[in-house]
Amino acid sequence: MSDSSKEYSRATFDEVMVPNYNPAAIIPEKGEGSKVWDQNGKDYIDFAGGIAVTALGHNHPGMIKALKEQADKVWHLSNVFTNKPALELAEKLTDATFADKVFFCNSGGEANEAAFKLVRKYANDNFPDQGKNEIIAFKQSFHGRTLFTVCVGGQPKYTHGFEPLPGGISHGEFNDIESLKDLISDRTCAVVMEPVQGEGGIIPADPAFAKAARDLCDKHQALLVFDEVQTGVGRTGHLYAYQGLGVTPDILTTAKAMGGGFPIGAMLTTDKIAKSMGIGTHGSTYGGNPLACAVSNVVIDEINKPEVLAAVKTKGDKIRARLQAIGKKYGVFDSVRGEGLLIGAVTSEKWQAKAREFLVSGWEHGVMCLVAGPSVVRFAPALNITDDEIELGLDRFEKAVAAIV
Ligand SMILES: *Cc1c(COP(=O)(O)O)cnc(C)c1O
Repeated sequence: MSDSSKEYSRATFDEVMVPNYNPAAIIPEKGEGSKVWDQNGKDYIDFAGGIAVTALGHNHPGMIKALKEQADKVWHLSNVFTNKPALELAEKLTDATFADKVFFCNSGGEANEAAFKLVRKYANDNFPDQGKNEIIAFKQSFHGRTLFTVCVGGQPKYTHGFEPLPGGISHGEFNDIESLKDLISDRTCAVVMEPVQGEGGIIPADPAFAKAARDLCDKHQALLVFDEVQTGVGRTGHLYAYQGLGVTPDILTTAKAMGGGFPIGAMLTTDKIAKSMGIGTHGSTYGGNPLACAVSNVVIDEINKPEVLAAVKTKGDKIRARLQAIGKKYGVFDSVRGEGLLIGAVTSEKWQAKAREFLVSGWEHGVMCLVAGPSVVRFAPALNITDDEIELGLDRFEKAVAAIV
């Protein structure tokens, strides 16, 4: 039996958890908007957003209401049955995007796994016996942690030791059209990219590069897959980043912010491509779960409003400007990049590979941010973060910087 009065600490983690994470010493206990309190009652401004997930902040009344209402109805049915929240959500996503069809799952990695399986299946269905099975992705990219998705991802540290690895995958230089031209051929079944590389360091795709990828895919009858797991659901100031780039993919994957903290993911595609995922070809026990879909419906409704998306850009500009000023004043950042509320402060030479030190000092000074690789401090707050929260958080962040320089 569990004893709810028992106190836990970071030390317990080392006793009972597989050591694949290294969490902070603090243990957050509750949140409200973009504020979080730890087990000692200390408060933090949350610029991390659970790694670009809690798009409407913590404790959002509309999400709680939807979750509670659905909890009183039905929790789980399996895909032997469909359910209203899932159908509503799929309709919403197809109305708002290029897509005609949706496949639901529980995470970004699963959405990408579905996408990567689908591009192979589609090529095998439509171009049989032509060896059209090569996937091109990009260096530094991140697409999830399943074996297939780490292999498509462009960070060798995530595949190291997990050999033998699935084949037929190559990696070009991101934002380098010539590099993609060198790799692509009629054997290519798909090109996979993030509109802004997230884990790789907050590197936006050059619109000309995205356009060239689209044209090269068309030329070679390959599918263009946008991994929008991190950029999706308003993060860049567009519902999906492809809408800002002006380049439409054939398949789009979305997760993270989509559930605002409740696990859900989806793969979006066209009617024609969806046909290759016929009955029995792929599946997920929890995909399209009514609880997750009920919550996600609220998230999409709240975020897919012109004024909310416009505010993401204004807030992002405000944070970037202040980070630039902090970077200059203390000599810690060379540049600040990103789109909307997906922001990366690139550390200066002196702070190379020390991004995590800003995180740790941030925790001490009551602000949560993230890293994106060893040399980028990442900010991915809730999209509805208030101006007061932004100001207070940046004041604390500046103190955190001043304390370590
Ligand atoms: C986080 C992320 C993933 C993986 O999502 P999970 O929900 O952790 O499986 C995939 N692609 C991108 C671009 C991501 O940022």
